[in-house]
Amino acid sequence: MKVKVISVLEDNYMYLVIEEDSKDAIAVDPAVPHRLLEIVKREGVRLTAVLTTHHHWDHARGNEALVKEIPELRVYGGDDRIAGLTHKVTNGQELKFNTINVRCLFTPCHTSGHMCYFMWEDDCTDSPAVFTGDTLFVGGCGRFFEGTAEQMYHNLTEVLGTLPLDTKVFCGHEYTIKNLKFASLVEPENEKVKEMLSWARARDDDDKPTVPSTLLEEFEYNPFLRLSEEGVQKFTGQTDPIEVLRVLRKEKDNFKKRKERVLPHAMLALEWGLAHTSHSGPVT
Ligand SMILES: [Zn+2]
Repeated sequence: MKVKVISVLEDNYMYLVIEEDSKDAIAVDPAVPHRLLEIVKREGVRLTAVLTTHHHWDHARGNEALVKEIPELRVYGGDDRIAGLTHKVTNGQELKFNTINVRCLFTPCHTSGHMCYFMWEDDCTDSPAVFTGDTLFVGGCGRFFEGTAEQMYHNLTEVLGTLPLDTKVFCGHEYTIKNLKFASLVEPENEKVKEMLSWARARDDDDKPTVPSTLLEEFEYNPFLRLSEEGVQKFTGQTDPIEVLRVLRKEKDNFKKRKERVLPHAMLALEWGLAHTSHSGPVT
């Protein structure tokens, strides 16, 4: 199976998974339908299904237009709020598309109906893939909009964290640099974080995605999967893994807000000639 990574909107990813023998294809979170259909045409494949991770517009907004275009299209998801949903799935449910197998993994927290999709192909030695939407990111995890730290802990450690270590991680957004900047604040001594951050910056310079990573790599630099590490516990001042996660997510929220707060002032100062680019605001 071949996975095409397609950057859309500001920093979203949609994916097209192609079964190479049959030329059937499955889309994951196709938020920009005309773009997807162009690629479907160019690749000479037949789009048979859509997997939606969650109902947020930047993941599900393309579904209705696609169903209009392809009336027999099946749209899977775990939440009734998903636009154009035709097949509601539940935790552990398995779907089969010729030789491609999909296991639906219910991961509520970012939204209460969030679903991840674990995928592998029969008689194929390629590593499996997991599409994690806004639950697990490269170097980070999603915000807890409709759930708790207990739920996210379960999602990260018991659901996603128990998949094979070579599983390729395809997430919903390109947040890697931001996530790794936070990771380096959490674990300043972690060499893997430093390596990954400079690699991600180089990818960004070349306008290339940082997906997929692997689950093994995530365990090495993603603080949200390293809750028992001494450095992460020290940063949060907690030892219970759920409390470590709760504090970590809160700190990440503040980390983001702090940056957003600083930016407008720095921009104004720049516009008015009050600051030089080299020191255009507090260092965060
Ligand atoms: Zn979302």
